[in-house]
Amino acid sequence: MVSRVIPVDPFDLVIFGGTGDLARRKILPGLYRRFWAGQMPEDARIVGCSRHDMSDKDYREEVRAAIQEFALEGKDDTDKIDAFLEIISFVAVDATGDKGWTELAKKVREDVVHAFYFSVGPSLFGDLAERLHKYKMAGKETRIVVEKPFGHDLKSAKALNATLRKYFAEEQIYRIDHYLGKETVQNLMAVRFGNVLFEPLWNALYVDHIQITVAETVGVGGRGSYYDKSGAMRDMVQNHLMQLLCLIAMEPPHHFEPDAVRDEKLKVIRALDPVQPEDIVRGQYEGDDKVASYFDDVEDNGSITESFIAMKLHISNWRWKGTPIYVRTGKRMKARASEIAVVFKHPPHSIFGEKSNDRRGNVLVIRLQPNEGMNLRVTIKEPGPGGMRLIEVPLDMSFAEALGPDAGDVADAYERLIMDVIRGNQTLFMRGDEVEAAWAWADPIIGTWEESGERPKPYAPGTTGPEESLMLLYREGRRWRDVKA
Ligand code: NAP
Repeated sequence: MVSRVIPVDPFDLVIFGGTGDLARRKILPGLYRRFWAGQMPEDARIVGCSRHDMSDKDYREEVRAAIQEFALEGKDDTDKIDAFLEIISFVAVDATGDKGWTELAKKVREDVVHAFYFSVGPSLFGDLAERLHKYKMAGKETRIVVEKPFGHDLKSAKALNATLRKYFAEEQIYRIDHYLGKETVQNLMAVRFGNVLFEPLWNALYVDHIQITVAETVGVGGRGSYYDKSGAMRDMVQNHLMQLLCLIAMEPPHHFEPDAVRDEKLKVIRALDPVQPEDIVRGQYEGDDKVASYFDDVEDNGSITESFIAMKLHISNWRWKGTPIYVRTGKRMKARASEIAVVFKHPPHSIFGEKSNDRRGNVLVIRLQPNEGMNLRVTIKEPGPGGMRLIEVPLDMSFAEALGPDAGDVADAYERLIMDVIRGNQTLFMRGDEVEAAWAWADPIIGTWEESGERPKPYAPGTTGPEESLMLLYREGRRWRDVKA
């Protein structure tokens, strides 16, 4: 199978925070991979910015090191890397002062698409927007890419939206959620809306429940001070898990076009019921002889921030009323795995005489990582003699296997999303009202914990979180799928 690479138009991409961790690990290596794949036109230009003075030559060497560390697998071609570095330059710019802005403005060409990636701390987003305007780089053709976190609560998200909208129209603002850039996430829409097979069953009549799991093995590590002010609810649920939930639950948009898709996602968020306290389990990892505890990682023995959360959600609309959606995410869990599982109901009547607890029904699993792909469990007869014994087997579609050698060239989330910015396609970016609706849902839940001061339940590292999370499903005769890498 040959993957089709459609080159984008010439562009200038300015990366504020061009020396930061995200630029080094994701943005710049991703751009190199698109260059390598032939998606970037020859006269594309990339400008890195941060406060410290640096020559173009030194910056290019930093970028080369980042590519060598994070982008190579099969793309180790010195000529290609050199050619890519040619399109890169550096300007020292201070987001909060006047340093470097005039020089930057001279570099940005008026007659090509220009995009500004805000890969800096959120406290600088307003300063950057204001200065882009002041230095006449906020014209109608400008696009800005805003990293997470988008606000800390509804009030701050509204204030940030208001600041950005002072200088930019909604069509110019690309709020990034890299989960939306994942191949499987888009495939989820293709599977739902490109086949007749699933959609008739995709509702409370046939779906018993849905599970969304995003499990990490790492702790909060060096991000302790940021994370402790945020927690799993703000860091993961309000954005990434909410976006996955929207895509799985939304109605078919009338067209695969930005506002049609985002209108449908917004309706899902607005239809979410308030969550009952007994349907929420918060956890905090302990330490062992190999890894530090959450307390040690954030250097605060009194912290009540959760590193794990599991919840049961309900969507009050015609399609989903009565189907629970269980979501969980946590750090220091037993494996790194992200998946969505749609668990269908049992057939209404068994003609084979098996006991009801022998049957598990069909499950469609959409794996986001590792090993992106989909898997549908179906019931068949166990081969061989011995009567009608039923077993479940997977119908498996791993992208790596299905696409063969081309699978390696499937763009990763960041590189796909950046190319979408250049193309002016906002479908996979969050609209301002979506972000605000998600905060409006999350705020009262977080407010209750903050008021009560309740401590999260401790859990041992390398597990699936606190035992209470198992009970969330078990008490209703269900169970979480195993967390497997
Ligand atoms: P980082 O490693 O701390 O880098 C911050 C960058 O901003 C550096 O290049 C820094 O360079 C620059 N900077 C700081 N103050 C500045 C100023 N006043 N003017 C101009 N540049 C300034 O942060 P990061 O991890 O790359 O994260 C960047 C953004 O992405 C944050 O919003 C973060 O929440 C988000 N994010 C990061 C990740 C990740 O994996 N790292 C994942 C998701 C979201 P100088 O100090 O030299 O100016």
